[in-house]
Amino acid sequence: MKLIRERESLRKFTTIRVGGEAKYFATPKSVEDIVECIKFARDRHLPLLVLGGGSNTVLGSIEGLVVSTAFLREIQVSRSDRYFVIEAMGGTPLKEIVAMAVKNNLEGIYKLLGFPATVGGAVSMNAGSFGVEMSEFLEEVEFISWDLEVKRLKVWELDFGYRSSPFPAEGFICRAVFKLKAADTPVLEEYKRIRAKRKKTQPINMPTSGSTFKNPADSFAGALLEKVKMKGFRIGDVGFSTVHANFMVNYGEAKVEDVKRLIIEAKRRVYEEYGVKLEEEVKVIESSGSNGWQVL
Ligand SMILES: Cc1cc2nc3c(=O)[nH]c(=O)nc-3n(C[C@H](O)[C@H](O)[C@H](O)COP(=O)(O)OP(=O)(O)OC[C@H]3O[C@@H](n4cnc5c(N)ncnc54)[C@H](O)[C@@H]3O)c2cc1C
Repeated sequence: MKLIRERESLRKFTTIRVGGEAKYFATPKSVEDIVECIKFARDRHLPLLVLGGGSNTVLGSIEGLVVSTAFLREIQVSRSDRYFVIEAMGGTPLKEIVAMAVKNNLEGIYKLLGFPATVGGAVSMNAGSFGVEMSEFLEEVEFISWDLEVKRLKVWELDFGYRSSPFPAEGFICRAVFKLKAADTPVLEEYKRIRAKRKKTQPINMPTSGSTFKNPADSFAGALLEKVKMKGFRIGDVGFSTVHANFMVNYGEAKVEDVKRLIIEAKRRVYEEYGVKLEEEVKVIESSGSNGWQVL
């Protein structure tokens, strides 16, 4: 199959199933392919979007190149007495690392269960749940900078924050290295408890993009949304779930324009009632336009 093809529908590449059309779409299988994709977009002055599992992303039409990491999967493991060192390619599903952690009774990272992230997407978002976040387990990140240098940096050289990282602004994540410590007590029971809690409190059987807003300091976005009656509120086919007020769900043919309107309405209500400015966690790209080379 050709590396770069034209006119691809993006709907199936986001977990909320909202997406327009990409002018160009690529599924690289190697570092060389990634370099070729970057050159393609730069040479033609096109915007470029890196797409992992699409579980934090809502898309309109992209008048540029969408690069999916779906075929960039590989895991290598080395181990000592106390540690597992796992090196995974950017498109590797995070759940494979979680499964490995549970099987080998490793600390912490097993709590990042139950969401359809890739390694690259989870590093880029510094994904977190149940008191842990991705960067705690990272040793190194290997990426291709947008000016085409392959770089490998230690975690302390990179600036991670709450659901934030230097990526994708700094480059395309090719690999991440995790150092995972053997746990002193069994992790399986805790893993099962978290899994059951997620099933009960999140709309896992609906197309969704997970948390819409970051939690503001000292409060929860979901609680604020519930108080301003956004839980269950719909615009067209998109609404805030009746199970979890901070999760948007698609009831059928949701459109990116409706997603935007829903987000604005939620922000307005929370600001007017509580003076709190909610900040999006989900990445919504309504339409990229063809405004020259940039990383979306
Ligand atoms: C049911 C459900 C539950 C969820 N629960 C949680 C939760 O508990 N905690 C949490 O933090 N999130 C949660 N999420 C949100 C989402 O799963 C995470 O943000 C996840 O890390 C996104 O990974 P992804 O591969 O799908 O990234 P995408 O949505 O594809 O991309 C997210 C961002 O990462 C960038 N990116 C992706 N791959 C690369 C790469 N290789 N190099 C550079 N940049 C890249 C993209 O450009 C984009 O900016 C949930 C989502 C769902 C659907």
